[in-house]
Amino acid sequence: MTLTLEDTLVLEEIFVAGYEKVIKITEKQTGLRAIVCIHNTILGPALGGTRIYPYATFEVALNDVMRLSKGMTYKSALSESGWGGGKSVIIADPKKDNMEELLLAFGQAVDRLKGQYICAEDVGCGPEGVMTISRATPYVVGLLHEKSSGNPSPFTAWGTYRGIQSVIKKIHGTDSVQDKVIAIQGMGSVGCCLAEILFWEGAKLIIADIDREKVAKAAKKFGAQVCSPEEIMKMECDVFSPSAMGGILNSQTIPQLRCRAIAGCANNQLLKDDDADELSKRGILYAPDFVINAGGLINVTQELESAGYHSIVARNRIHKLYDQLMTIYDIAEQNRFSTHNAAVALGDYRLKYGIGKRMTPPKFHHAIA
Ligand code: NAD
Repeated sequence: MTLTLEDTLVLEEIFVAGYEKVIKITEKQTGLRAIVCIHNTILGPALGGTRIYPYATFEVALNDVMRLSKGMTYKSALSESGWGGGKSVIIADPKKDNMEELLLAFGQAVDRLKGQYICAEDVGCGPEGVMTISRATPYVVGLLHEKSSGNPSPFTAWGTYRGIQSVIKKIHGTDSVQDKVIAIQGMGSVGCCLAEILFWEGAKLIIADIDREKVAKAAKKFGAQVCSPEEIMKMECDVFSPSAMGGILNSQTIPQLRCRAIAGCANNQLLKDDDADELSKRGILYAPDFVINAGGLINVTQELESAGYHSIVARNRIHKLYDQLMTIYDIAEQNRFSTHNAAVALGDYRLKYGIGKRMTPPKFHHAIA
């Protein structure tokens, strides 16, 4: 008898305090090892990207997906997108492993959850990756499909740019980035789009990436100064823009910063919540990551509205992230706590009273013939 994936796919729920549902997924024919983490669904079904990364251990992967899914709860609450917080990770190396097989098996696992969790792209799982997942389940957004919203990265970059404008406004009293020095860590999908916007707006760019080819290409295109991935955080600049991996703001790196503000798209930039207090003490204005990088979430949300996707509606909503951030800076100033704490307090308030709760079920237009 030949075994099908249906026979060998195992979903095992593990208890984690403070999280609604954490599911360990394994499939022995493909070697799939993945986790779906649902933090909170007060405001709607859980939505969040699928990260593919060669985590050293299951525990490291679990820790990452837990932090990321909690971040999604707050991102959704603050952007009033009507979602719960969810995220998934696949423990694999996208450069070496057979991703088609793994993603199809993962898609079947997502399908079994019947819409409790909706996935999207993330680091290691670009638009092509989510297209593969969509062959196994309708519960996926941000597809390269006429009825879907496509690649969210340009929208995340636009929101990040609006966030950079917000910190520049607080520091210099103007929205213009002309001649301001912006140091971008990571020239990936979002980092590159962001560099392009900043280039056309006249900013002076310093860039770094562990991928030398990517950084050389971007340096030529945007006339940017290149520096090493180790040095980028130490560069003197108006704004440091983390656009790669998380955990980069910590007790070791914060004393080395020579920026006036931090505004970037990376998720989980703070290693610990109280690292935000250290930034405040040093007079560095921090645009909370889960607020500034909500552009992609707002964009994919738009495709599930009953009227279908409209890029202008998405862009106009993302534009307002600037005002959202200004409100957060005000709350922080008035209460004398960090901007991170201000954003969390605002998120907690919305969660407590169900403000922004989804009233109509999402419509997966791309899956309707
Ligand atoms: P990506 O994988 O396309 O790009 C990440 C880039 O960072 C790659 O070019 C990689 O080589 C580089 N990098 C990795 N480690 C580095 C280091 N130590 N120093 C310098 N560069 C390094 O990912 P992306 O989609 O551009 O996302 C970037 C970040 O933004 C991630 O944290 C992601 O979770 C977050 N984010 C992305 C979106 C989106 O719409 N894509 C939305 C919200 C948040």
